[in-house]
This record gives sequence, C-alpha cells and structure tokens, in this order.
Amino acid sequence: MSRMSAPAAAIVHTRRALTFLLDLLYPPRCGGCGKYGEGWWCAACNGQTQWLNVRDSQTALELPSGESLTVISAAKFAPPLREGIHRFKYDGQPQLAEAFAAYMSAIGKANSLSADAIVPVPLHATRLRERGFNQSLLLARYVSVTAGSLVEVRALRRVRPTQQQAHLGATARKENVRDAFAALPELVEGRALMLVDDILTTGATLVECANVLYRAGARRVIALTLARA
Ligand SMILES: [Zn+2]
Repeated sequence: MSRMSAPAAAIVHTRRALTFLLDLLYPPRCGGCGKYGEGWWCAACNGQTQWLNVRDSQTALELPSGESLTVISAAKFAPPLREGIHRFKYDGQPQLAEAFAAYMSAIGKANSLSADAIVPVPLHATRLRERGFNQSLLLARYVSVTAGSLVEVRALRRVRPTQQQAHLGATARKENVRDAFAALPELVEGRALMLVDDILTTGATLVECANVLYRAGARRVIALTLARA
C-alpha cells in the first residue's frame, strides 16, 4: 500500500468504502441457507457441499468425432449447492459467482488445467434478456482472474433459442442443442480452450459446444463446471 500512487490509493479506499456501504445496505445472504452476515456462501454450507477430489472431479465425454472431452467439476449437484445454484441463476444472486468460481479455480488448478482462452457456454439473446446475465459468463470472468487467461465471449454464440435442458430427458437434450451453437473461427483456430458452464448433467450442451469449437479449428478443448449431476 505504501508504494501505491496517491490516485491508486484513493481508488482502493473509495472501493473499500463503497463495498462497506453496500454490505450495510444489502448484507450478503448465504445462497445455500439464507443466513445473513456470513458472506454469499457460509462456512456451514461450504462444509455440507460435496466437493470432489481431483480423481473424482473428471468426467470423460465422447464427442461425435470419437475424441474425448474431459470435464472437470468442483462439486456434486446436491444440497445445499443445488439451492445455491438455483438462487444464483433464478433469484437474482449473481454475487454468488465469485464464491463459486473460487472453488472452480481451485479444482482446475489441482487438475493442472490450462488454456489460451476461456469460453463461457453462451445463452441465447432471448434468455439473456429474461435473466439479465449469463451465469456461465460470470463464473468464467472470475475463473479467468485466477487462471490468467482471457474470456472470449464472442468465440461461441447460441444461434437459436433452445428449451431449458433441466426439463428434458437425455435424448431430448441432445436434440435440443443440436446445431444451436456457432463459433467464430478467428477467435478459436489453433487455441487451447476452456469451456465454462454451471452444471454438467448429461453433457449434451458441452459436447455440442466442444464439437463446434473443434470444427472451427480449436487445438484442444477442455471443460470446467461448478457442479456435476
Ligand atoms: Zn449457508
């Protein structure tokens, strides 16, 4: 702090003061149990979350090309994380992204994950307007801070609206996301990419995204999710 320039120090102090005021006005509420005053993910909920160790964190999915897509997940999709993800996505608690992404970064680091760029699974414009934010992009932004790789928001886009995967069975999920994505080759070609999504269920979405990225020239694709069903 002592070597910081006066304007930089002023910014840091102003930010701290703002955070302090915001916490007073809107005290952080745990996304799992709803308790106030212990941050967005409290110690009790953290203790109950079924975090995965390195060996259990990996899932191999088969791509249409026969290649394998490795997905690393931080935790099992079970209470209280299930409630936390629901609040994060549907009840307007995007602040949970920072807490959740820290666990994703940790399991990614434990798996020695590296990438030239991070690609969040995109939402269609219609869904984005409904929700107001893309949960995968928020997670990707926080993961990128620790991973040191840039987020390429435009590398992948959803070219047609799809139904919510949560309401569909395995076969219907594949159909639902088929040809739903397009990649921008100039952001993809020759690069090692890390897909980021909130939940791995059947993997239909991640398989489709990875497939599109490989077809656009990606050198390598891996995926990182917060939870695995
Ligand atoms: Zn809690």
